[in-house]
Amino acid sequence: MGGSFLLFSYLLSVFASLPSFTVVKADSDLTRPSFTPINRDLYHSSDDLIEQIKSLVHRHPDKLTVETIKAGNKGYTSEITVVTYCQSRKETDDKSKFRILLSFGQHGRELITSELALRILSILSEEQFLPKMDRASLNGTLDNVVIKVVPMENLNGRKLVEAGNLCERRNGRGVDLNRNWSVDWGKKEKDYDPYEENPGIAPFSEPETQIMRKIAISFDPHIWVNVHSGMEALFMPYDHKNRTPDGLPSQRMRLLLEELNNVHCHKRCMIGSGGGSVGYLAHGTATDYMHDVVRVPMSFTFELHVVG
Ligand SMILES: [Zn+2]
Repeated sequence: MGGSFLLFSYLLSVFASLPSFTVVKADSDLTRPSFTPINRDLYHSSDDLIEQIKSLVHRHPDKLTVETIKAGNKGYTSEITVVTYCQSRKETDDKSKFRILLSFGQHGRELITSELALRILSILSEEQFLPKMDRASLNGTLDNVVIKVVPMENLNGRKLVEAGNLCERRNGRGVDLNRNWSVDWGKKEKDYDPYEENPGIAPFSEPETQIMRKIAISFDPHIWVNVHSGMEALFMPYDHKNRTPDGLPSQRMRLLLEELNNVHCHKRCMIGSGGGSVGYLAHGTATDYMHDVVRVPMSFTFELHVVG
């Protein structure tokens, strides 16, 4: 797991290296109208960001591949772009490698997370560098991993944000993609907000969630990180319970988060189970599904909050 710590170290360094951003809207359940226009000096448009990512892949065909997966039902369609990084492209399907799945932009309004995805891909392809990065040791680790990056899980929701609905976190037809998974789906807490937390008509009713489930099951990652914004937090399962799972893998997750918190968050990050730390339980989340069903040994939700 030393390699995975190193990788996470770099991931968190990327967080820390972002220029001062003001997050348009915190990932809070209390929705206040915001009239702040999107600052185009800080955020790409979704079309531009996807274009930048595709041209990055085009410049590094030896290491990066990109695919666009589409799905739909009842007249609603969505598409998700997935970039795969492997130091030697021929070895992408080598199952002896350590596999990491990173997803960004599950909530439409959390624009900064997709910028982070672009930054990480630029660093992986050696177009950008971090100030204190030991590239040789990083390359040694990267030699043994395959990383799949989903830069913008909720493109339709993000389009609504870009059209002026700045507080929108749900997908293009009003479903919270982080409530649409099957673990404890549809349970309503006393403080349940039917607008913000609409779980859909059934588990996996949404094409975006269907696509993500398919990617996760076929890729079978060792690490999953669902990157959100609005808090300084490094969460592990569970979101739907007030506690963390039992056993050694859970202890390993906690140790890793503690170390990351010390090294990169000045111990400011909230760590622990999402449900136990954030102040409310969430049902039907992606990270709980990755842990309980896909059996990803290290399943996380990172909450990024950088204020300018
Ligand atoms: Zn979020």
